[in-house]
Amino acid sequence: MSVEPSPRTPAWPPKSAPRLFVEHRLEEGFTITLDGPQAHYLGKVMRVKTGDTIIVCDDQTGEWASSVVDAAKRSVTLRIAERLRPRESVPDLWLCPALLKKDRFDIVLEKATELGVARIQPIITRRCVADKLNQARARTITTEAAEQCARTALPEMGEPLKLEAMLKQWPDDRTLLFADEQGGESAAKVFRDNNKAALIIGPEGGFDDAERAAIRAHPLAQPISLGPRILRAETAAIAALSIWMSVAGDWAGYKNSGTE
Ligand code: SAH
Repeated sequence: MSVEPSPRTPAWPPKSAPRLFVEHRLEEGFTITLDGPQAHYLGKVMRVKTGDTIIVCDDQTGEWASSVVDAAKRSVTLRIAERLRPRESVPDLWLCPALLKKDRFDIVLEKATELGVARIQPIITRRCVADKLNQARARTITTEAAEQCARTALPEMGEPLKLEAMLKQWPDDRTLLFADEQGGESAAKVFRDNNKAALIIGPEGGFDDAERAAIRAHPLAQPISLGPRILRAETAAIAALSIWMSVAGDWAGYKNSGTE
């Protein structure tokens, strides 16, 4: 017996179509030309040909189907056909992770994007082993993560800020959820009442006492605990983001409509 595809499953564009965030603003009928690494990816890696479908996003208008009108050696030209989805609405959560060693911080950038944060604001603390972030590289990681998990919005990326400077300029309407392995309220309980918030996660060696005191003294700070075990910083970030998304973000009440 043949299995009919669900009527809600669109046959076009194909699920396997490459997805890319592009620098151009997109509109029906526009023609855009990609070069550099994006042309290399489409031409050499994906071996696209004229007529193939590519899914493109611009982080402004949403997600579009396009077709290849020209695939040359160093450039690929696409014609924007139709909008598939508007830009997603993004839950209002920022992640403020202390900078970590490069590969560990890459994990934080990738996973935070997949889990749906609105903004990543790196912080520099006294025990940080790194004090710089390669923004171009960070942008590549978050963009690839967004493409891979079919987000239609990229997280904003802040320049790293010293903890004290960040606390000083903190907006007066955003709760500071402080992941403190030395004690705090149960995360899920606190998160439920905080749907405009930021999560602060310390570096490998944790915050020092003065930093912990400074965060706790902030009027918008809420210390939270992620349980009895001391987690690596990247695990703490992933765990806290997941809890927040499920009680205050867009996992709460989300039911998959079963189109797969
Ligand atoms: N000070 C620790 C390690 C810090 S873990 C030590 O060296 O022993 C890195 C960061 O992850 C912490 O600063 C904190 O923000 C977060 N974290 C890890 N485990 C946590 C827990 N159980 N509850 C809350 N936050 C935690």
